[in-house]
Amino acid sequence: MTTPDIAAPPYLDASLPVADRIADLLGRMTVEEKVGQMMQLDAREDLDDQVLRQHVGSILHTSPERLERAHELVSQTRLRIPLLVGEDCIHGHSFFEGATIFPTQLGMAASWDSDLLERVARATAVEVAATGVHWTFSPVLCIARDLRWGRVDETFGEDPFLIGELASAMVRGYQGDGLTDDTAILATAKHFAGYSETQGGRDASEADLSRRKLRSWFLPPFERVAKEGCRTFMLGYQSTDGVPITVNDWLLGDVLRGEWGYTGTLITDWDNVGRMVWEQKVQPDYAHAAAAAVKAGNDMVMTTPGFFRGALDAIEMGLLTEADLDPAVSRILLLKFEFGLFENPRRPDAARVAATVGSAEHAALNLEAARRSLVLLENDGILPLVPGTDRDADGRAMSDASPRRIAVLGPLADDAQTQLGDWAGSSGQADWIPDGHPREMITTVLDGLRDLVPAGWEVEHARGADILTLEDDPAGAFFPDGQPRPPIVVPCETDAGVLAEAVAIAERSDLAVIVVGDRIELVGEGRSTATLELVGSQNALIDAVAASGTPFVIVLLASKPLVLPRSAAQASALVWAASPGMAGGTAVAELVLGLIEPTGRLPISFARHAGQQPTYYNQIRGQHGNRYADLTQSPAHAFGDGLSYTSVEYTDLAVIGGGDLRLGDAVRAEVRLTNAGPRPAREVVQLYVRDQVTSVSWADKELKGFRVVDLAPGESRVVELEIAVAECSIVDAAGVRLVEAGAFDLLVGPSSRDEVLLSAPFSVAAAIAVEAA
Ligand code: BGC
Repeated sequence: MTTPDIAAPPYLDASLPVADRIADLLGRMTVEEKVGQMMQLDAREDLDDQVLRQHVGSILHTSPERLERAHELVSQTRLRIPLLVGEDCIHGHSFFEGATIFPTQLGMAASWDSDLLERVARATAVEVAATGVHWTFSPVLCIARDLRWGRVDETFGEDPFLIGELASAMVRGYQGDGLTDDTAILATAKHFAGYSETQGGRDASEADLSRRKLRSWFLPPFERVAKEGCRTFMLGYQSTDGVPITVNDWLLGDVLRGEWGYTGTLITDWDNVGRMVWEQKVQPDYAHAAAAAVKAGNDMVMTTPGFFRGALDAIEMGLLTEADLDPAVSRILLLKFEFGLFENPRRPDAARVAATVGSAEHAALNLEAARRSLVLLENDGILPLVPGTDRDADGRAMSDASPRRIAVLGPLADDAQTQLGDWAGSSGQADWIPDGHPREMITTVLDGLRDLVPAGWEVEHARGADILTLEDDPAGAFFPDGQPRPPIVVPCETDAGVLAEAVAIAERSDLAVIVVGDRIELVGEGRSTATLELVGSQNALIDAVAASGTPFVIVLLASKPLVLPRSAAQASALVWAASPGMAGGTAVAELVLGLIEPTGRLPISFARHAGQQPTYYNQIRGQHGNRYADLTQSPAHAFGDGLSYTSVEYTDLAVIGGGDLRLGDAVRAEVRLTNAGPRPAREVVQLYVRDQVTSVSWADKELKGFRVVDLAPGESRVVELEIAVAECSIVDAAGVRLVEAGAFDLLVGPSSRDEVLLSAPFSVAAAIAVEAA
């Protein structure tokens, strides 16, 4: 213990209550320092100016070298207020070279396993905290709607209940034991709220949403994490009813701060304040935009350099008072004091970095996450390739059958960086690791199969197809705000030589594994796709292998559900690997060979055609028919779908004492599960509720619970299920969430598809208001 310096100002006295320290510091800050404290700027730009002249409170996109410089600069400032360092550590410590990169959020959602996601977030926090970053902009709680949207991969899929479960787990994992825990980082619930409701999948377009729709499906996951203590919330880019989210008083004030009592910190999205001036054109200048953003309750303004002058001008013009800044500045300082940054700014710790970043323990967890992210969508019995799960001394699968020759084809069979997905390494947001993460940390599908096929088997590889090339956008290299404009994607034509080489290999093989999908240029912000089909000559490759007569398996290594060509119907099996991270290739090879069991279930539906959008399962009842004139409306693969290597039977569903339930009751039920096959099962038992008659039109069924159950071969077991009656709610025409009296069905089974769900009735005695609007 050091003796307190009696000359030190009270805000530096760690023994004082935080509220007193904040009050003392606020009293010492100039108006410029307060405005700066509300700003988060891009550390790739003029860091000296940001810290010394604009007094910024936070920085993002900071390379390890620049982070050192940032700390030096803070030591030169008058009050030495530490910086909050933020980064998009979305599925691992994205831009820290050699960090563990897990599957994307959508991939991990296929595990339906909140415990796994909590452990992944914890491991990420341990790596991130060691490198001097305090704040991750994760998780994403947007509901995936139109699959053409470029950010579907960042979501947990299409269901609000599943999103709430998994987001809550990640927030717990990131925030650890609270901010005094030196491995804790701030979590961010984003993008509040409705950003994913696009027009035609176009990123950041107007979100045409009623308040009732928001309350029904978009807000519940956010409400959950707000009440559970997620320390920060980030806005999206959307406007609703003409109001940019940045100044949406109803959502930010009445709902978030008011109804939910949220006391955490609110950060805008990238240049939201500037966008109101130069893009949405709803504010005449930066002074008005800054005043409006502060008054709406934003605490931290991300990457709007013009906010500094704008806010000061607004005060001079009388649009804002200095006191209007105090609540926001206080909330930012609260985070810094609670973190203890004034005593220890949590600079990078080389020893902890060496011990934790990319550690063997995290690699093992990553392999577990990758395995659990895979979804087996089709299988005519060709998989698994090897009957048992035993491995030889080299870790290879073992087989008594005669050696086989496997053709591993496709442009993504050996594309290590693409496999990591968006927000990782060289995906474009950070400029300090242009070559991506170390190749030796990543196993591609080709690596995995070469490493794991039984001794004596042969693996041959050819690309067989190309996806795309890029051309400069004639509109210019940059958007008006200075952000780089993505180049234009030009799909590759079929190259006869490249295709012929692959077909020749397929023809001399016993089996072809074709790895197709999308690339980073087709994924992410501003990179929505007009179609969902495979780009380039990938369809031609599938067509040609199908015509060769060699049995084939498709591994769809794609950020989001895509549409496969007709010839894919001839595939013996289909596996979806949604940007499965560094260990993805090993996991895919293990699954194909049969060293592991397929356990993933779709957190999102697959369309048969882009024109079916949206395809989410929980659509509102009532339309004419259920087909298009030229196509069914049913998805290619529905929410909840996923096969295993065994077969699990569901029987004897019974609601226990299901008559006339009341507030505070639970719907209790039992179902018998029997593993009728020869291999172990990890079954995701899904519970849906159907309210038979509702006062307003509503989803025909909604997921309200699930249980992950392990069953040994031949095992038969009664599984107990429970859903709170309060969960069986709808939102009425006035926007009030309530459980209506009457008859319900409890639907239990392995997917959202009606034909595989067992049904049992129950009833609720009297209407119950769950919350008031
Ligand atoms: C994205 C956010 C991200 C932020 C910082 C924005 O463009 O919408 O999700 O956290 O940039 O990189």
